[in-house]
Amino acid sequence: MQKHNFSAGPSILPREAIEATAQAVLNFNNSGLSLMEVSHRGKDFESVIIEARALVKELLAVPDGYSVLFLGGGASLQFCMVPFNLLEKKAAYLNTGTWANKAMKEAKGFGEVVEVASSKEANYSYIPKNYTVPDDVDYFHITTNNTIFGTELADDPKVKPYLVADMSSDIFSRPVDVARYGLIYAGAQKNLSCAGVTLVIVKDEILGKVSRHIPSMLNYKIHIDGDSMYNTPPCLPVYTALQTMKWLKTNGGVASAQKRNKTKAALLYSEIDRNKLFKGTAAIEDRSLMNVCFVMNEAYQELEKDFLAFAQERGMVGLKGHRSVGGFRASIYNAMSIESVQALVDAMKEFEKSH
Ligand SMILES: *Cc1c(COP(=O)(O)O)cnc(C)c1O
Repeated sequence: MQKHNFSAGPSILPREAIEATAQAVLNFNNSGLSLMEVSHRGKDFESVIIEARALVKELLAVPDGYSVLFLGGGASLQFCMVPFNLLEKKAAYLNTGTWANKAMKEAKGFGEVVEVASSKEANYSYIPKNYTVPDDVDYFHITTNNTIFGTELADDPKVKPYLVADMSSDIFSRPVDVARYGLIYAGAQKNLSCAGVTLVIVKDEILGKVSRHIPSMLNYKIHIDGDSMYNTPPCLPVYTALQTMKWLKTNGGVASAQKRNKTKAALLYSEIDRNKLFKGTAAIEDRSLMNVCFVMNEAYQELEKDFLAFAQERGMVGLKGHRSVGGFRASIYNAMSIESVQALVDAMKEFEKSH
């Protein structure tokens, strides 16, 4: 049976990227060796990381003056690495959910953290608007897509301080005006690669301004000077990231991805809104194109388990919602086909008919 993978992360990747990685694990560049057993300083792997960094710049139209890094430690390490390198006195954070909270918690160990707005009182079901960001902060941190609560910023905010963004779950899903950002980071396992690597795009001139000592492995400047190979990089996830980006480029880049993502999300949200059994949990104007959160309508609460089983029988996996929202979450990242979204919509319609 065909599987439809709605997992939130690690999550669906393009079949091409998985097959190319499988091939390279067996025989990398016809070397007779596995990608897993060759030197990261060898010519073959060096060209992988060089091409991967160049493709990030090409796909996101990264302006001059920025460096691209592939680091270990996940997005969670960036919660601490960002303030370590950038927070001298004060930083502003937008509190839009679990991940934003974790980022703020780490930053508090380095300086003053100003929470400019929060949607906590409504279980993070919307993105706060009309907040003001103080001019004198070192940066303003946002989470562009809230993987758990299914909300997303549709645009890059316009503020005076540099933006720092956790784009773990919507990187490459839309064009980004990188020039507004001092730093962008993204754990790879949502939209880019397998777990084990984190993409960082950093504006060179924002570095070197804090007075504290920064340990080498946590120092962006040292990774930049080492061409993202200060130590052994996560070779296999970097290789998969390169394959995903090649797939993305072949399919029209991030602008085309955004079009497909809008179509897929509209198809699913319109069924959620139409179907008497279900309702969405996020404010309509802030609905995520990546993680679609929905629950059973009050009158049908007891059907939740049945619907999960019904969907599972049709090959759908990863639909159970995060415990902090409940219900369902359909993650429909770049690699998710419209056919799989249609299969979910069909299952919802069929389930409705029998109840
Ligand atoms: C998954 C996720 C994280 C955590 O990533 P790790 O790589 O597990 O540290 C952080 N932020 C967002 C928005 C995420 O979706």
